[in-house]
Amino acid sequence: MKKSPPIIGLLGGIGSGKSAVAFALKECGCIVADADANTKAVLHDPEVREQLIAWWGTKVLRTDGDIDRKAISDIVFHDEEARKQLEQLIHPRVRCMQEAQFAETGASTRGLVIDAPLLLEAGLDTLCDALIFVESSRELRLSRVSESRGWTLEELDRREDAQLPLDTKRNKADYVLINEGELDEVHNQVKQILEDIHNGRHI
Ligand code: ATP
Repeated sequence: MKKSPPIIGLLGGIGSGKSAVAFALKECGCIVADADANTKAVLHDPEVREQLIAWWGTKVLRTDGDIDRKAISDIVFHDEEARKQLEQLIHPRVRCMQEAQFAETGASTRGLVIDAPLLLEAGLDTLCDALIFVESSRELRLSRVSESRGWTLEELDRREDAQLPLDTKRNKADYVLINEGELDEVHNQVKQILEDIHNGRHI
């Protein structure tokens, strides 16, 4: 029987370039499950939408009737019970989408990638054969997220404080990819790391 492709998890600080690395892995023949995109899709599932309205009323809706993700994150940011409730509703469905995406594996698939901001926090690392930590200095990460998302240093720190420390993430990793230069350099490192994963070479 043919061995299934390795499952690869991405770790790193906010704005370190995990999605950029996921994109490079996709270009190298991997299937990527993007947890952010899958979560957005799940929030539009009619069953999920009805449940959110049943719990928290129409304040979870925007004026155009669409789900208001900002309103939902405000609710769960201040209420631990609500956060758990939301996770129990969302996580199994996101997991299902990921499994369906990975089931598309073909003969040429070189890896199955989980791009999830809270990979370790959600215990998804237990599914992975290899973990890649994407390294970028705090200054660079700040300049990227202030440019792409308009965040301040305070915003970056507030969000990063809600995650596991970067040292914990780095220590869990099998490979470190330095993303402090051009995107071309990401591509070259991704190619090398994929080869190392297939040959069983670790750092
Ligand atoms: P998050 O944890 O919030 O999901 P992330 O780690 O996935 O963030 P990305 O979204 O990949 O980070 O990168 C953040 C921003 O920085 C994006 O706009 C991306 O295009 C840009 N970026 C990432 N790496 C580079 C690079 N080497 N050169 C230029 N821009 C980059």
